[in-house]
Order: sequence, then structure tokens, then C-alpha cells
Amino acid sequence: MSVLAHRVREAPSSATVRIADRAASLRRQGVDVLDFSAGRAAEHTPAYICDVAVQALHQGDTHQTMAQGKPEFREACARKLARENDLSVDPDTGIIATMGCKQGLLLALMATLNPGDEILVEDPGFVSYQPAIRFCGGVPVPVPLRAENDFRWHPENLEAACTDQTRALLFCSPHNPTGVVHTPDDLAVIAGLAQRRDLMVIADETYERLTWGGRRHTALATLPGMAERTIGLMGLTKSFSMGGWRIGFAYAPRPVIDSMVVLQQHLMTCAGSFAQTGGAAALGDALPASVRALWDDWEKRCRYLVTELDQLPGLACAMPEGGFYAWIDCAETGWDSEALAGHLLQNHHVALVPGAAFGPRGEGYLRMTCVKSWDDLRAGLIRLKTCFSTLSSPIKTS
Ligand code: GLU
Repeated sequence: MSVLAHRVREAPSSATVRIADRAASLRRQGVDVLDFSAGRAAEHTPAYICDVAVQALHQGDTHQTMAQGKPEFREACARKLARENDLSVDPDTGIIATMGCKQGLLLALMATLNPGDEILVEDPGFVSYQPAIRFCGGVPVPVPLRAENDFRWHPENLEAACTDQTRALLFCSPHNPTGVVHTPDDLAVIAGLAQRRDLMVIADETYERLTWGGRRHTALATLPGMAERTIGLMGLTKSFSMGGWRIGFAYAPRPVIDSMVVLQQHLMTCAGSFAQTGGAAALGDALPASVRALWDDWEKRCRYLVTELDQLPGLACAMPEGGFYAWIDCAETGWDSEALAGHLLQNHHVALVPGAAFGPRGEGYLRMTCVKSWDDLRAGLIRLKTCFSTLSSPIKTS
């Protein structure tokens, strides 16, 4: 008899985190691995944010905060939502501090799903959505995002996936892994479905500040009638390289926030105190020109990388509309993505994420993080060129 619960026995590991961990342990063993797997930028958190948190630590900001998060942090979140997202949210009743978007997602799912409830998710979609839904007793129902539809929602696919058990929809824009930024028209499709079917929508907006080519992120909650049925998840991990701080926030209708607070009281008590203080500094009214310049440079790195990748034999790659991943079509190589990512890591010491980790519709793709240092991008491209210029057909095992 296994001591383990079904929920963990049957859960896949997270490909993004597992591969990044594998790359880190290979590096510890002295292997010169270039890691483009998880979505972690080369840059550290900007110094002005660290300074605020360090000073706060020395002044005693070392204690648990209100479960909902510090009022100052929530007020900074509310001002940011008003200033950048056209959203008016009450910091006392509509916002909770979370330990990154992943913990915000967990609280949102626990607060809204009953056992057996179905929730629509994207295929391909972020690797942890389906496991997190299952951990909470829900049933993920993948809806295909097809390359021929530009990885956008198709109303007929969405309708076809709905049953009497469908309670919610979870989506990400800018999209991880494909880089699509949903337009107001795309969002209207989701809003229409949610209103017709009386669904909650969880909007993962982790990459909302990272949109390219003059595009802008639109928050689903700004669409008519959607504020009362949207849980928005925002983080500081990506835009401010604050992944290790584990800080983000969720905004939602009051009953949902109230329930997330109860869950937070029991499960984590609160998000980290000085992480909230640093987070409030990051969300402050004036964005330093240096941060804006960094994001502009990230856009250049994305463009450089995808242009170079697109020229390698067997690969095709387009500029993401947002987010910082190259979504590389490798179907022409004939390799399946798991085998190809394994080959790249083992023989060329380059860590990428196989597309299949994002769902069956991700097969035939590899995901590569573009916001590594310029030197690492150049070195990685040399290794990829060596691989793809000499890659023979995969060995068939059956
Ligand atoms: N969300 C990032 C990614 O997709 C970081 C890794 C993770 O949390 O899964 O790579």
C-alpha cells in the first residue's frame, strides 16, 4: 500500500521547475549548462527595490502581516490597477497579497471549485494549471489553442468544451508559452461565454507589463459585467525579476477575497512581510527610466533570439506579442519535443522546455526564455546551431 495520496501519485512534475533544477545541479557538478528553461531573467531585482526591503528589515519588518497583506501593499496594488489597468479596486475588500501568482492561483481555485467542477484551460497552457486544479479537486478541461488560429480562442471550441459541470475558465495573457496577447475582441469571446454560462474566470496576468510592438495588455475585468466574475492574478516576479521574493497579488469580488483570506489564514498566514514592502516600492507611482529601459532591452533580446532561431534548419519561430518566451516550431525536425529537449541538454548543454509539457497541442514545439544575458543568448545560439545543423532523423524505437 502506498503512503502517498492519489493527488501526488498521479501528478506530473513541473517541467519548467524540474528542468531548471536539473540545469542548476549540472552546473554544480561543473557542467557548463546554459539554462533557458524557466522564465527567469538574467537581471537581479533593481537595487532601489532591494534597498527599501533591506532598510525595512533592519527597522523590524520581520513579522507576520495581516493575512490579507499589509494595507500599504494593497494600497500600492490598487493605485497600480487604477493607473495602469483602468480598474478601480478597493484595497480593503478587493485585493489580497499572495506568494506569487502560483499561490494566488491555488487560493483562487480552493475558494471557488467544488469536487468534480470542470474548469476550462488552454492547451497549450502553463504547466502547473492542470495539476493545481486537480490538487483542488477540480477537473481541468483542455481547450485547444491552434497555430492556424494564431493560438487564439475559438468560440466554437470553447462552447464545445462546456458541460453542466463547467464552473470556470482559467487563461493567461500575455500567454505562456505562445506569447499571444489577447485583444479586446479575444477577451469579448471569453466574457460572452462566461456570461452565457455563468462562469468565473481566473485571469493570469503575470506578464501584463511585458507587451511588445506597441501592444497593450487589457484586463478582462474592464469588460462590461466582468469585474464581478473575474479573479485577476498579478505578480512582480517577471517584470521586476523578483521571483525569489515570492510576492504577487490577486484582485477579485469581495466574497472571493474574503474566502481567500480565510484560506490564507490557515495555510500560509500571509505573504512575506519585507517582500510586501519591496513589492509596494516596485509598484510605486513613478517607474524609474532604468526599468523601462530594461524592458525595452528585453524586447530587443526577444526579437534577436527569434530572428536567429527562425534561420536554423528545421526550426520556425515568430516574435512573441508579449511575455518573454520563444515558442519554437520544431516539427520539421521529426523529433518529439521531449526527446529533442533531452538531446539538447545532454549533448549540447542547453536547457529548453519541451512543448509537450504544456499539453498535447504543445507537441512539435520547444520553449526558450529570451531574457538571459546577451552573452548567454549568443553562446546558446552557437550551441543550437551546432545541434540543428547536424541533427539527423530521430531513431525510431517502435
Ligand atoms: N512561470 C515560469 C515559467 O513558466 C517560471 C517557472 C514556474 O514557476 O513554473 O517558466
